[in-house]
Amino acid sequence: MLLKNRLFTPGPTPLLPAAQTAMASFTMHHRTADFRALYTRVLADMKEFIGTNNDVLVLACSGTGVMEGSVSNLTSPGDKVLVLTAGKFGERWRDLTKAFGCNVEVISVPYGETFSLDLIRQKLSPDVRAVYVQATESSTGARHDIKGIARLVRDSGSDTLLVVDAITGLGTTHFDVDGWGIDVIIGGSQKALMIPPGLAYCAIGERAWKRMETAKNPRYYFDFRKERKAAAKGESSYTPATSLFAALGAALDFIRQMGEGDLVAGRKALIDNAELAAEMTRAGVKALGLKLFTSAPGAALTAIDPPAGVDSSAIVKAFRESFSAVVANGQGDMKGKLFRIAHIGYYDYLDTVGILAALEHVLTSVTGKSVQYGASVRAAQEVFARSLSENVTVEAGAAR
Ligand SMILES: *Cc1c(COP(=O)(O)O)cnc(C)c1O
Repeated sequence: MLLKNRLFTPGPTPLLPAAQTAMASFTMHHRTADFRALYTRVLADMKEFIGTNNDVLVLACSGTGVMEGSVSNLTSPGDKVLVLTAGKFGERWRDLTKAFGCNVEVISVPYGETFSLDLIRQKLSPDVRAVYVQATESSTGARHDIKGIARLVRDSGSDTLLVVDAITGLGTTHFDVDGWGIDVIIGGSQKALMIPPGLAYCAIGERAWKRMETAKNPRYYFDFRKERKAAAKGESSYTPATSLFAALGAALDFIRQMGEGDLVAGRKALIDNAELAAEMTRAGVKALGLKLFTSAPGAALTAIDPPAGVDSSAIVKAFRESFSAVVANGQGDMKGKLFRIAHIGYYDYLDTVGILAALEHVLTSVTGKSVQYGASVRAAQEVFARSLSENVTVEAGAAR
């Protein structure tokens, strides 16, 4: 059959057609009233998308740029920080905080696992200036308990900052950013927002703004206070990624439509969409006798162990060659040991069922053993059908 190129990777994710069209013809200059209006509207919408009243910054960089800014703006050399790591992205926090001279305490759990709150409580002494963690560890598919971690940080009674890399958490996980007291939450354009790589964003609370007044690490491009001042005037300090802003505006409009005109409802619908796709996928792979890589799977992606004796690289290769579908291999040391199918962003029912159906052929070809065709599709369909009937019940209940 003919092949369509499709991404099933947890970033970059499939592009929203309306966003592609919006950026293709965009030629506005950034120091104009029209662009300031777009910039201001997008920043206001981003607050609703993130679910916060805190100021939001959007910068031209990949996600790691704003991760770096969240270290350089908030720490001084020698500051004690606590890094929670359970995968490649947690290790990025460790390396970044070390690069800026922090005194780094690390809580490290094996790939695929998540953190025990008791262990965090023990390490959370009042001299810890900041805690750095992922909401969802994209290298393993695990979701961490940000609500529980935030409660520990806030209950500690100190002014410890909580910085959350939610680059694949936003749009796949419900957060009460302000209610839980998350000081900085970070996202990236190439994930749930369905637009190309090139923008990273964050929402920053008052405690963190205050910390920046005394934090001594060097910063120049990623100077958050300077960006905040510029943003208040509808501008960025340097040339913004103008066409990506046009795309972002279109993506936020699409999410608002998902919520029938309400962006907050749209954000919830986008999260529920990812949750349902993830649940369908988990049921599908289990029906084929495969195991999940993590004991705490989130909705951003599903990480799956290959069958015994099979290198996951062969699975990734077969998906690409037979179906032009790009699924992600394991990263770093995990290469060959797992494969990852994303649900974050622009994925629908047909994508979800289609990748499972393709997986059945892929497994047949890499193992040489026959699978029961339709087993994973059927399991996914059953999850989907159940979700429909649950929704009907809720609506019927509400109408009574
Ligand atoms: C994608 C991703 C990042 C950012 O990576 P960039 O390549 O810099 O955009 C950071 N953390 C997590 C959890 C991610 O999934």
